[in-house]
Amino acid sequence: MTLVREGLLGPSYLYHRRLIEQSKTWSPDQIRAYQEPWLGRLAGRYGDAVTDKENYRRDPRRYARWNVPLLTHTVRTSGTTGVPLRFRADTLARRQKERAYLFDIWSRAGYAPNDLRVHYRGDASGGLFRFDRLENVWVVSPAATVEEELGRLRTWLQTLPPFFLHVYPSSLFTFIDLVGEDLFRRLPVRGVLAGSESFPAGEQARFEKEFGIRIAHWYGHTEYAVLAYQCRECHGFHFYPTYGHVELLPSDIEDGCRIVASSFNRMGTQFVRYDTSDLAVPAAGSCPADHFPRASAVVGRSQETFVDNAGRKRSLFGYAFGEDLDHGPFWDQIRDVQFVQDRPGFLRVRLVAEPWVDKDQIRRAFERRLPMAELDFEYVPVIERSPSGKRRYFVNAL
Ligand SMILES: [Zn+2]
Repeated sequence: MTLVREGLLGPSYLYHRRLIEQSKTWSPDQIRAYQEPWLGRLAGRYGDAVTDKENYRRDPRRYARWNVPLLTHTVRTSGTTGVPLRFRADTLARRQKERAYLFDIWSRAGYAPNDLRVHYRGDASGGLFRFDRLENVWVVSPAATVEEELGRLRTWLQTLPPFFLHVYPSSLFTFIDLVGEDLFRRLPVRGVLAGSESFPAGEQARFEKEFGIRIAHWYGHTEYAVLAYQCRECHGFHFYPTYGHVELLPSDIEDGCRIVASSFNRMGTQFVRYDTSDLAVPAAGSCPADHFPRASAVVGRSQETFVDNAGRKRSLFGYAFGEDLDHGPFWDQIRDVQFVQDRPGFLRVRLVAEPWVDKDQIRRAFERRLPMAELDFEYVPVIERSPSGKRRYFVNAL
């Protein structure tokens, strides 16, 4: 049954599905042997300098292969941070390829092709919820989850058969809030699929333990140049060597390396040594799972960096959400947090907290984590979400 259903997903899907399975057994040499011809072709066409968004914005035609209508189409990245970018993507094969890799990632939470999903994401086209038959997914629109509609949302959720909940890491707890924790615990949620952005350290483990639900988590980006699954063994990120090529290069941000990506697509825009402006910490040692290139953590976007009291840029994720806050009830006291920087060396910490919290303890904990900045605390009833329901952890008002 599974094979028949998977056959419907297309030839590129099946091709990549096989490639993924094979690559899991490859040695580092075999991985290099697969990647080198791709990298050689890219370097021959475009040179081997590191590129950034500006290169593709200034000269989009240069990097676009098979730039023909129908074969490729324009993709526009969301402009939540910085200026949006337009590029061309392969119409036929890209979705199939993408699906092969995502399904592999999602299988870590128990997902099998075509299992039912409920996707909580920015999409206002169909009201509160709409069904996409092709994808076997219910799409719930964050913009429509206004107070008057929550009753309807809760009633409807209770009619669903077992499903996988597909969210952004930053909207998982928003969703639980909207539904109510008691009801959420009763829903037949088989697993959570949460990618694209980082979880604050500890939040993922805390969720899995408290709710007994597994999370499949990954790192990817809208340009489709590299993709990494989060490993259940080493908790780091493994970059699929057949999807694209990753380099972790030094950055001017403390403890963070730049994720530089080269895409392995035949059609559409080819990203070559593209600085994603995301940051990662390289992994030490090896992992028994496979020989994929690894990072021990993805610490967010370089836009999510603050300037400390010495004028040094630091990644907020690494400091504010570090592991040692994970233990004990610290995060249980805090429902939401946002950091605002309006002058160098200074951060305003906006917090949504239970009324019973120990504010001194919270202040001390953050001061321990962020001794290189002066902190000011503000307790607020709620922190505004973006229209797609995402949290904004950091506001750069410099
Ligand atoms: Zn691993």
